[in-house]
Amino acid sequence: MPEARDWLVEELQRRGVSRRDFLGFCGVMTTVLALPRTAGAKIAQAIEAKEKPTLVWLEFQDCAGNTESFLRAGRPTVADIVLETLSVDYHETIMAAAGHQAEEALAKVVAEKPGGYIAVVEGSIPTGANGAYCTIGGRAAIDIAREVCGGAAATIAIGTCAAFGGLPAAAPNPTGALSVADAVPGVKNLINLPACPANAENLVGTIVYYLTFNRFPPLDRHRRPLFAYGKSIHDNCERRAHYDGGQYVEAWGDEGHRTGYCLYKMGCKGPVTYQNCPNVGWNEGTNWPIGCGHPCIGCAEPDFWDKMTPFYTHLAGFPGFGKHSNVDKVGMWATAGVAAAFAAHGFVQLGKRWKHKELEHQQVYQSPANSNAEPAEKAIKETEEGDQA
Ligand code: SF4
Ligand code: SF4
Repeated sequence: MPEARDWLVEELQRRGVSRRDFLGFCGVMTTVLALPRTAGAKIAQAIEAKEKPTLVWLEFQDCAGNTESFLRAGRPTVADIVLETLSVDYHETIMAAAGHQAEEALAKVVAEKPGGYIAVVEGSIPTGANGAYCTIGGRAAIDIAREVCGGAAATIAIGTCAAFGGLPAAAPNPTGALSVADAVPGVKNLINLPACPANAENLVGTIVYYLTFNRFPPLDRHRRPLFAYGKSIHDNCERRAHYDGGQYVEAWGDEGHRTGYCLYKMGCKGPVTYQNCPNVGWNEGTNWPIGCGHPCIGCAEPDFWDKMTPFYTHLAGFPGFGKHSNVDKVGMWATAGVAAAFAAHGFVQLGKRWKHKELEHQQVYQSPANSNAEPAEKAIKETEEGDQA
């Protein structure tokens, strides 16, 4: 067994990854974690010095979409290595072992590493019919979750089903499906990474944060890490200038669509959805839904399949312009040249309203289970101070 500080170095060498690539990965992580670029060196130092963490991945009532997202993460290359070298001791879909041998691997981690592993849960947990709707190795999912999450240093509920119950929990909810928070209340350090599916880079970012700062990231009121869910899609959207300027796509394939205008009228839920998709992107950062012309459907928010539908109909109000304002009118005003007067008053109000909304959203979730939660700014400040020291 290599020494704690050597495991990553050896793994990188074995796979032909240079130190330069590794430092590049740490730089990308500063973007994901919304930290200053100078924090990259601290991240590199911390990852190298840590013992290889153990992770077990439980799949319950799910479509395996988060596993697919996790397996297809390709950027940066070192992220795969960090994940692979995490010692994923149990993952039904990808592990070579099967049957009793696989279940023994899980039992071994729980018995031999109490409080020393991270549990990732994918899918909701059915509780109806005494848990009979989802059993693995003859045991109900709810019993497995209680045991495994109960002994973990932290539990990461990955995807909207594990985080909020997802589609299986939608009425009439025939299986009694619950989120991890509701099925296993009081579980230590529960972190939600919702989205359909979750972005693997946010999972890597959560683990890298833990390795770097020796604590789990600050969370919002839905237990989502602020580094990934602290800003709305709308706040960072590349089409925002078109929204502010009243330039909207009116029909699929029209000139506005081809030009890259705002997708609000086509049903975009970016103004009420919080995730870092515009900054991190998808498919190795190649693009993201709005970037390729599709509105955000709000997949990182609770009950998005009910609250954000119909997906191609815009929100009832017009965020930032008052409850009764009308998107067509705003576009007309903007193009009629009254934007200057509008900007002087309306945008100040808009700014205030969104600032208020932002502050409300960023209430950090505080509970005995998350007593280490604190504002992201503090962690960033500490990082900066550490770098300057
Ligand atoms: S409404 Fe959607 S497309 Fe338009 S700026 Fe906001 S997030 Fe971007
Ligand atoms: S852009 Fe919206 S719908 Fe698409 S992945 Fe991001 S949060 Fe989900």
